[in-house]
Amino acid sequence: MKYDVITLFPEIINSYCAQSITKRGIESGIIDVKTYNPRDYSLDKHKRVDDTPYGGGDGMVLACQPIFDCYRAIEKKDNFEFIMLTPQGERFEQKTAVELSKKEQIILLCGHYEGFDERIRLGLKPREISIGDYVLTGGELGALILIDSISRNLENYLGKDKCAFEDSFSCGLSGLLEYPHYTKPREFMGMKVPDVLLNGNHKEIEIYRKAQSFERTKTRRPDLLE
Ligand code: SAM
Repeated sequence: MKYDVITLFPEIINSYCAQSITKRGIESGIIDVKTYNPRDYSLDKHKRVDDTPYGGGDGMVLACQPIFDCYRAIEKKDNFEFIMLTPQGERFEQKTAVELSKKEQIILLCGHYEGFDERIRLGLKPREISIGDYVLTGGELGALILIDSISRNLENYLGKDKCAFEDSFSCGLSGLLEYPHYTKPREFMGMKVPDVLLNGNHKEIEIYRKAQSFERTKTRRPDLLE
């Protein structure tokens, strides 16, 4: 999977990707993350990428030319998706992450300031994605959320013995929340690990976990059961 991130703040993307499982995913060649700064494509003599809004109002608006030229400079694979991070887009969910993990390349466009000149949306026709009903300062956190959650669905990304299929919102095919986990010690501050997890009976453990998964979903997220 190739991720190409258009951002005015490449350090945010690169520093996150230099850590933990994302770093390992890059080193093992399962994913590749590249950043492109629209400033490098600006034809303005001061390398400006934004300007004041027509009609007045606060803030600066990202201008068309640097974004169009930056987007065009990115080599596209056959099966790519171009995504604009915006609070006005479709809500990002686990099922979107699974769907996007089937692509070969994802190009992510991060906004900043007041957002984009509307003609960027009209001219480049990105898929618009929001990571939730709140407004962030820039699209970089959203881009990282997509990179992280999409990559978890790629083969061998989490290691040979672990797959995202078992986590909440997938949980096999059920779409439920995952069951609770315990590790050593067997007892901590009077709280004991449930006996069923200690008896080594895999069938019983599976039944217990399925029941827990259902109970959790019923109390915390009944909407998922629907
Ligand atoms: N003025 C815009 C509006 O009200 O719709 C918000 C602009 S926001 C301050 C700057 C940038 O942050 C956006 O262009 C977008 O890339 C990113 N952003 C903010 N909130 C987001 C969200 N919930 N999901 C995805 N991206 C978001």
